[in-house]
Amino acid sequence: MQDYSINTRCVQAGYTPGNGEPRQMPIIQSTTFKYDTSEEMGKLFDLEASGYFYSRLQNPTNDMVAAKIASLEGGTSAMLTSSGQAASFFAIFNICEAGSHVVASSSIYGGTFNLLDVTMRKMGIDVTFVDPDCTEEELNAAFKENTRACFGETIANPALTVLDIEKFAKAAHAHGVPLIVDNTFPTPVNCRPIEWGADIVTHSTTKYMDGHGVAVGGAIVDGGKFDWMAHADKFPGLCTPDESYHGVTYAEKFGKEGAFISKCTCQLMRDLGCIQSPQSAFYLNLGLESLHVRMPRHVENGQAVAEFLEAHEKVEYVNYPTLPSNKYYERAKKYLPNGGCGVVSFEVKGGRPAAEKFMKNLKLAAIETHVADARTCCLNPATSTHRQMNDEQLKAAGVPAGLIRISCGLEDKKDLIADLAQALEAI
Ligand SMILES: *Cc1c(COP(=O)(O)O)cnc(C)c1O
Repeated sequence: MQDYSINTRCVQAGYTPGNGEPRQMPIIQSTTFKYDTSEEMGKLFDLEASGYFYSRLQNPTNDMVAAKIASLEGGTSAMLTSSGQAASFFAIFNICEAGSHVVASSSIYGGTFNLLDVTMRKMGIDVTFVDPDCTEEELNAAFKENTRACFGETIANPALTVLDIEKFAKAAHAHGVPLIVDNTFPTPVNCRPIEWGADIVTHSTTKYMDGHGVAVGGAIVDGGKFDWMAHADKFPGLCTPDESYHGVTYAEKFGKEGAFISKCTCQLMRDLGCIQSPQSAFYLNLGLESLHVRMPRHVENGQAVAEFLEAHEKVEYVNYPTLPSNKYYERAKKYLPNGGCGVVSFEVKGGRPAAEKFMKNLKLAAIETHVADARTCCLNPATSTHRQMNDEQLKAAGVPAGLIRISCGLEDKKDLIADLAQALEAI
């Protein structure tokens, strides 16, 4: 399947029915699996045979969808999680423990920032946030003896900064640790971080991969290139026997290609749960079947809306990486030659009252705390997600009261622009 283009793999990877089997990927809606003998089941527990025994750890539907996502990202193995947050947490916690340290870009999704800055600190895992546009020297200086992972987002939600993946991968590898990249916004259709040196890729599949606002989910993909054994002192969880799992040494038994996901499944799924339901995995697969058709339209609409807004007299500025005026234009051309995503942010002139008027007058774009959906949606952080802050605090946080985020859906761009035009007129 890997010989086919990514378009074909969006449709067909992960599941190939045999003679007389269902054409559509079946939903294996079963918590448990039956065996004829205890010996056969024992082999599964000893990881001597592959198979299923309990859907808290693994489910065949999930694994088929995960195999498709691994194929799209060019990875060697993958797993689904119950949410994007669970994917980020598992990807980091799989190689970090109390006493470890993480270097992370400061321009990341708010939920991930809190995960690192609040919750993982409580677990004894330290973090240093770096400006994603810092120099190589500054980036290298952030690494410590106990650093175990480096983390960034290809296109950050909501700041829309573009990560210099090669720079981050180089620094991570120079310090013997993997680079984990959250690739939610561009999806593998528009960027494949593993090709640029990333080791582990995470997703909130809730966004474009599902694409229809149907199911919350996440995914972790291993590029299969990071040599854990070459840095065995840093990663004892992968490179020494796991006494809680019959003494298996993941990096020996599953090699570079499978160690990370095997440990994450055997240990973290076993102990923490957070598996995606097979029903949700089925919905996710329906989304993936059209991902390569939808992404170019999200990009086309995003670009058209960004250009329209930039030329409008009532708009202060527009933030969209593939506008020539954008700070990240050159980097976007390199990493996102087919465009990034459909999310655009802009500030209306006139601050809070102007933004309120604009939002009130939208007809087609719905007010939602969501992005990356087939239907266009809009958010004014000052009156929703950031409403506890006053205008001065908002400005300091880089989220001025007049800031609006629009996630361009799959509607006709003429209708979207007409809706924005009339709402801007109303200010
Ligand atoms: C939404 C989002 C997440 C969190 O995903 P959930 O599925 O909501 O848990 C993580 N990273 C990015 C970039 C996101 O946009």
